[in-house]
Amino acid sequence: MDPVTIFIVATLMMLANGWVLGLMRKSFPVALRNCTETWRIATLLLAGSAVMYASRDQMPLGLASPLANGLVLLGCTGYWRALRQFYGLPDLRWMLAPAAVGILGILWFAVLRPDTRMRVVILSTCCVFLLLASFVLLVSQKSPDGAHSRRVMASLFAFVAGFTVFRAAYFLGRGISPSFDITGDGAWINMASPMITALLPVVGTTAFLLMCSERIGRQWELAASTDYLTGLPNRRTLVTVGERRFAERPQQASGLALAVIDIDHFKAINDCHGHEVGDVALRHVAVHLRTACRGSDLAARHGGEEFVVLWEGLDTTAALMAGERLRALVAGEPLNAGGVFIPMTISMGVAAANAGDHSFHDLLRRADEALYAAKAGGRNRVEQAKN
Ligand code: GH3
Ligand code: MG
Ligand code: MG
Repeated sequence: MDPVTIFIVATLMMLANGWVLGLMRKSFPVALRNCTETWRIATLLLAGSAVMYASRDQMPLGLASPLANGLVLLGCTGYWRALRQFYGLPDLRWMLAPAAVGILGILWFAVLRPDTRMRVVILSTCCVFLLLASFVLLVSQKSPDGAHSRRVMASLFAFVAGFTVFRAAYFLGRGISPSFDITGDGAWINMASPMITALLPVVGTTAFLLMCSERIGRQWELAASTDYLTGLPNRRTLVTVGERRFAERPQQASGLALAVIDIDHFKAINDCHGHEVGDVALRHVAVHLRTACRGSDLAARHGGEEFVVLWEGLDTTAALMAGERLRALVAGEPLNAGGVFIPMTISMGVAAANAGDHSFHDLLRRADEALYAAKAGGRNRVEQAKN
């Protein structure tokens, strides 16, 4: 295959990828649409550059070279921008500067003072800068989500940047004749160039889609396991974690304990101050529960104005003390609803797993019965479950 054919094949692959991305974009969540669209445009720009390279013979050099190289630089800028958008980062004011400097420089050394060496130096420098900007962005991401696809993507950018440096050194080292033509066959590097250039639009697009799908998957998982109002784990997560910990609990005394917690007279808060203040009150209690949790403790919203705290390694006495601390914490800090202080209290039933419990639900039921006793006993109190 000659380089022109490879360029044409690469173009078709890039166009197909751009088209697929265009189709998929509509089914992506709104938050991912901008970056997907930017990635698609960048891919189409690179496809455009491949068309230019393939048809350079049909155009004057002064036009073909700046146009093709300019599209490469804009495409690389587009990928960098798409990745920044993916991570929720704003555009940088000087983002277009490397491409602009590159295009002007190439134009200068193609039209005014033809110099192939300088064109190679300028194009390679600007390209490597843009590719490394994406690489650095990818490797500097701390969050563990999407680590797999991110690593693939970072390796791609590093590889293409490395190849660009190598290619520039190869051409400069061998000396470039005035008739230098990257579509001229003969040199193996001319065959490799379009293939490597196609890596980002083709393999990169797949990696980018993988990054998007990993993010969507994680968001679904989070939504399914979290209570959206308080941000605490929901009942589903509580039951999953509770059942697992119950099965794995050590059989000695200090194993697994929990508290079922209910806000006292919560309906009155809703009735007197409105449902929205009621929601703020739920978040207020949730913050207390979360901050009181240590290590592997788990605080979850069980439903309505009811919460559960799961303690590991606590026996009944220690669990009662932890529950009492929590009760005092909530009672000691009234809710500040826009300057109006609303006193809040909670009642709770505490149970520690014992030999009579056959499942996590037995433990939960005993704590729930103790909660009823706490309510009947006057509220704002902690009651121990019966064995
Ligand atoms: P008790 O001391 O016996 O627990 O009384 P209570 O008023 O706290 O309990 P009750 O079961 O009578 O009322 C619970 C209220 O919680 C009723 C319901 O409208 C309200 N509620 C449940 N979920 C939410 C929510 O997400 N937001 C708000 N604002 N209110 C909620
Ligand atoms: Mg209540
Ligand atoms: Mg209730």
